[in-house]
Amino acid sequence: MGIPATGSRSRGVDFLDLGATYSEEEQMIRDSVRAFVNDKVLPIIGEAYQEDRFPMELVPQMAEMGLFGSYLEGYGCAGASRTAYGLICQELERGDSGVRSFVSVQTSLVMFPIHTYGSEEQKQKWLPRLAAGEAIGCFGLTEPDYGSDPGRMITRAERTDAGWRLNGAKMWITNGSIADVAVVWARTDEGIRGFLVEKGTPGYQTRKQTGKASLRASVTSELYFDDCEVGEDALLPKSGGLKSPLSCLSSARFGIAWGTVGLAAACYEEALAYAGERMVFGKPIAAHQLQQAKFADMLAEITKCQALNLRIARLLEEGKADFAHISLAKREGCRLARKAAMVAREIYGANGIMHEYPIARHMANVESVYTYEGTDDIHTLILGQRITGHSAFE
Ligand SMILES: Cc1cc2nc3c(=O)[nH]c(=O)nc-3n(C[C@H](O)[C@H](O)[C@H](O)COP(=O)(O)OP(=O)(O)OC[C@H]3O[C@@H](n4cnc5c(N)ncnc54)[C@H](O)[C@@H]3O)c2cc1C
Repeated sequence: MGIPATGSRSRGVDFLDLGATYSEEEQMIRDSVRAFVNDKVLPIIGEAYQEDRFPMELVPQMAEMGLFGSYLEGYGCAGASRTAYGLICQELERGDSGVRSFVSVQTSLVMFPIHTYGSEEQKQKWLPRLAAGEAIGCFGLTEPDYGSDPGRMITRAERTDAGWRLNGAKMWITNGSIADVAVVWARTDEGIRGFLVEKGTPGYQTRKQTGKASLRASVTSELYFDDCEVGEDALLPKSGGLKSPLSCLSSARFGIAWGTVGLAAACYEEALAYAGERMVFGKPIAAHQLQQAKFADMLAEITKCQALNLRIARLLEEGKADFAHISLAKREGCRLARKAAMVAREIYGANGIMHEYPIARHMANVESVYTYEGTDDIHTLILGQRITGHSAFE
């Protein structure tokens, strides 16, 4: 007989009362996203996950809450702080990594590059619709042969009389086949540049990737460009070089770092509730010393990552954080989440492998999160370069 999942009763994990340092608006955003996850996400996410589909019914509600492009200014965006963006990601990933991924992509990988590298016309055309959830975007950087080293990409864009011709393929693209607009990175004679390719453009096709054992409540797709002709107005005019897509990744990785804490906190809270009720050798699991050590370790690691994330958020708000700080947070957050999911599963015994509980879903999801937006190895190398001054990538 199972013990019901407790997600809907979640109060969040905040051992150091970091919440007291958030502004009133940040606290309000955290609480409203937490309530949204408890009331709207948790009741449906297990089924969506098993059905291998993103729950599109959540999109209008997330838009109404201002979750798309939350930290951007103007064009229908909420203009909230980076800390608020982090809190949004943390709360959403307590529900599911796929839901947080949707918001990360829409915000940091689609709206951010249009906001940063787009023309005024592109901003006017896309940002209000993306903020309102009336349009969905995707970000095409990874290719079948190049993931960790996107600078070697094969996809090419050549100038034509009327604009550009794209040829190539992208793979592992979140929201690819449901997107109205794709931010596509391609090699040109002037270096790597970004393009906005609209759904239905001749020569542009997408295909949903099926059979994932992780991040199933998220659409992952391949994009194909076969003599795909776009106008000059498709080019993101201020994009130039690999640093343009990398700046988008930095923004997304920051949110992912917060998201991983949400995943770990969900596993911690669920396991704690379970361990308080399930009896082994005549007393609750939670009353055994060996199990208490696991909870102490989980809480310690969650708390350290929360403090790290908050410090980086505040540095970002002051314009003082850079990509290496964010690599540290993404690396540590993923390590935390991976371990917390594994330990929580252990505490659940056999029930830990069942879909009836959220732990196995989080444990599978974290493998995608650990891999995308720079693997653990890549963030270690970024830190190694920052520490030693030597690049060890090649
Ligand atoms: C579910 C999901 C969604 C995704 N969504 C998107 C998306 O929306 N847009 C997008 O563009 N991409 C997306 N990706 C792609 C993701 O960013 C890549 O999978 C990731 O960058 C790793 O690339 P790869 O899978 O090709 O692994 P590889 O680059 O082939 O790496 C394989 C192994 O080699 C290691 N390695 C790589 N370089 C080095 C080195 N220099 N030294 C030592 N070891 C090294 C890696 O750490 C890894 O362990 C997504 C991936 C997944 C799984």
